Amino acid sequence: MMIFSGFFAIALLVGWLAPIVIAALITESRGRGALVGLLLGLVLSWLGVVIALLLGEAFEGSPRGPSRLYRECPHCKERMRRDAHVCPHCRYESPAEILEDGVRAAG
Ligand SMILES: [Zn+2]
Repeated sequence: MMIFSGFFAIALLVGWLAPIVIAALITESRGRGALVGLLLGLVLSWLGVVIALLLGEAFEGSPRGPSRLYRECPHCKERMRRDAHVCPHCRYESPAEILEDGVRAAG
């Protein structure tokens, strides 16, 4: 009976506890908080892990803060290209920041 209960414990761990822990780790690492993954794993088991992964992808895909291509105009705070010298909104002139390939422009 010891062997059987041991097997049952492992089955319980893999089938029930593992998806909870894994889903929690996924959502925690993606900046959604461990609680979201905990609940997903608890309610949906392995399906919750899949959903946690999908949620993480959606989160990473969404724009967070200023994009790589655009920057904030120092004068009117409107969005303008990083490699532009003149703001398209207020015509304020400022040195171009970073080119599209990530190379810093001179000046
Ligand atoms: Zn401007």
